[in-house]
Amino acid sequence: MISDRTIARQISIRGVVQGVGFRPFVVRIARDHGIAGWVMNDEAGVVIHAEGTASSVATFLRHLQELSPPAAQIESMDVHDVSTASPLGFRIISSRRAARPTARISADLAVCDHCLREMHDPTNRRYRYPYINCSDCGPRFSIIRQLPYDRSETTMSGWGMCELCQQEYDDIFNRRYHAQATACSCCGPGFRLIEASQVVTGSESAIGHAAKLLSLGKIVAVKGLGGYHLACDARNETVVRTLRERKFRKERPFALLVRDLAEAREFVSLTPLHEELLLSSARPIVLAVARRELPEVSPENPFLGIMLPYTPLHHLLVQLGSPTPLVMTSGNRSQEPIAYRDDQALESLSGLADAVLLGERPIARPVDDSVVAVRKDRPFMIRRARGYAPAAVCQIPSQAPILAVGSDLKNSVALAVAGRVVVSQSLGDLSDCETQNTFDSTVRDLLRIYDLRVNELTVVHDLHPEYFSTRFALQLPARRHIGVQHHHAHIASVLAEHDLCRESVVGVAFDGTGYGADGRIWGGEFLVGSLSLGFERQHSLRPARLPGGDAAARFPVQAAAGFLADLESLPDFTRPPWSLPARFQGALQLARKNVRCFVATSMGRLFDAVAALTGFVREQSYEGQAASWLEFRASSCSPQDPYPFPEHDFRPLFMAIIADRQRGRPVAEIAAAFHAAVAVATVESIRMISRRRQLRTVALSGGVFQNALLLNLILDALAEDPGLRVIVNQHIPANDGGICVGQAALASGSERL
Ligand code: ZN
Ligand code: ZN
Ligand code: FE
Repeated sequence: MISDRTIARQISIRGVVQGVGFRPFVVRIARDHGIAGWVMNDEAGVVIHAEGTASSVATFLRHLQELSPPAAQIESMDVHDVSTASPLGFRIISSRRAARPTARISADLAVCDHCLREMHDPTNRRYRYPYINCSDCGPRFSIIRQLPYDRSETTMSGWGMCELCQQEYDDIFNRRYHAQATACSCCGPGFRLIEASQVVTGSESAIGHAAKLLSLGKIVAVKGLGGYHLACDARNETVVRTLRERKFRKERPFALLVRDLAEAREFVSLTPLHEELLLSSARPIVLAVARRELPEVSPENPFLGIMLPYTPLHHLLVQLGSPTPLVMTSGNRSQEPIAYRDDQALESLSGLADAVLLGERPIARPVDDSVVAVRKDRPFMIRRARGYAPAAVCQIPSQAPILAVGSDLKNSVALAVAGRVVVSQSLGDLSDCETQNTFDSTVRDLLRIYDLRVNELTVVHDLHPEYFSTRFALQLPARRHIGVQHHHAHIASVLAEHDLCRESVVGVAFDGTGYGADGRIWGGEFLVGSLSLGFERQHSLRPARLPGGDAAARFPVQAAAGFLADLESLPDFTRPPWSLPARFQGALQLARKNVRCFVATSMGRLFDAVAALTGFVREQSYEGQAASWLEFRASSCSPQDPYPFPEHDFRPLFMAIIADRQRGRPVAEIAAAFHAAVAVATVESIRMISRRRQLRTVALSGGVFQNALLLNLILDALAEDPGLRVIVNQHIPANDGGICVGQAALASGSERL
């Protein structure tokens, strides 16, 4: 009978299939179905040789996809006929490493339920062991020094396995078969607590003592997966205030680590998508509307950032008596990158924390917590780091290796290898010299991991000549350098993410600052183009003269002066209802005389200016604070009719706002009418350009679109237009964290020409 004949197939699987227990999984299902052959890792993923009857091979193939391990992500599966080799049984053969590696490195994974049950079981030999993990869970990216993912190439290389761990590691039917980071309290690393001159040794005692300190209102530096956190009791206002003072972090919200989903529901309103994100193995910080007020944690902000415990250590802290929720903020002073080396942490965190809970397993690279919001029932990435990096985010047409160095703010870098775009963790602002060092080592890391030499790379950078990233890119002895305009990159990032390589679109890029193709500052841009043809500017916010350089971004009143200098007559801003500080008058003089001014079409600064005129007159203590303040006020009232904002000419807009303020109209209404004005003017421009250029796809990107109210107003209005399809960023940030992806995609488009 034909069905009994033995057939042979070679199966090449790409995706996240290394370091996630994939090969043992293949062996198990092969043996279940009587398949003979072998499986091995190769530079691109996993290759399988499978022999059996046609029906058993068919079931085997189906189960490969349907039953794959939780952390695996199969991107493609190619199946070829090959000749039979009649192997005996099914086994794992050693890795082949011929060409350059493109196998994706798994991101770090939250501890799995299986491991947690063991950790809580007093009869288990890993009872209360803070580094418990298995093939399905635990650290990956944060401990890998180099590919292939073998223990000797990780930060676990310093620990040999005890006999029992080795047995599990060697047993194909064990969950810890080839689990590279496996360990136990007999053989693996542990934790100790350092409090002034005292050291508490023994993981359980150290963690228990840390939990006690937290409940006594102390600040403890806790070593996590990708760096040190500063932790304290979120319900204790005094200690949260102390943390703010020590960290020099005035008002920016802190994230919370809650005990479990039930506690998360107590503190924030969650949709099913919020819960799915909270429980995902990436375990990001999820932004959701607060149900409880915690003014010290999230001042003047209706949202809270919440995450669930994701390391065994977090679970142990809670179990051993730590209060919850805990404020968990990256261990650093504001602006500095997260501390991740022990020596560095002991030195730099000693003034910030009352004690340091030091974990002995080294961290290979700093990886911050990720932050994700929800927009229109879709995930909306704000900061992409732990749990996501360095997964590939999209495919691009060019096979040539491309390094894209991103923007200087919210930097992250992208590397395209064989058409896949891999994105680093978010690194922060490159004005800080520690961050510059991390940037440098991240680039080197990525090149080493993917075995690339600089002289074969196309290196893509921003057009800003003063950016650290631009200068860094230009001094690399690369095959080719390409400069990509900032807002072109924003729009390209959306297209790349939605896999629209050839589609021509109307792109709307709203942000604070980006270096324009004309050397001016852009940030309220309407573009037309595609990844393969590039973009051209169609329209923008009316240019304003902003006085005083970078300070205009920190002081909303200074931005206001720039916009208002364009108006014919102004009221006396020293009298009520205005209470603008002297800085405003000074800036107004500069703007009127056009001294120390720069021309800008920045939508971000427009929001700042309106915030200043409605009451936000102080310095912003973090980026986007004034615009968020304005958004939250607008969201607190019912929708209002829009102010006039014809073709993004801000003069009638400001005249109307000034008149309303003098009339005593509530600030929330003014803020809402302003949001409506921006939405209406933007929708009109989109419709006009799409009609004129016969384009049906609209892409929105840039940091301003993190404003949920504005984004929703625009999406709702455009949804009434059945001919238009609107796309926004989802898995990569709409802010400058996504610039590197857009750069890589545009460079790839031009590479093919
Ligand atoms: Zn596990
Ligand atoms: Zn062991
Ligand atoms: Fe930007």
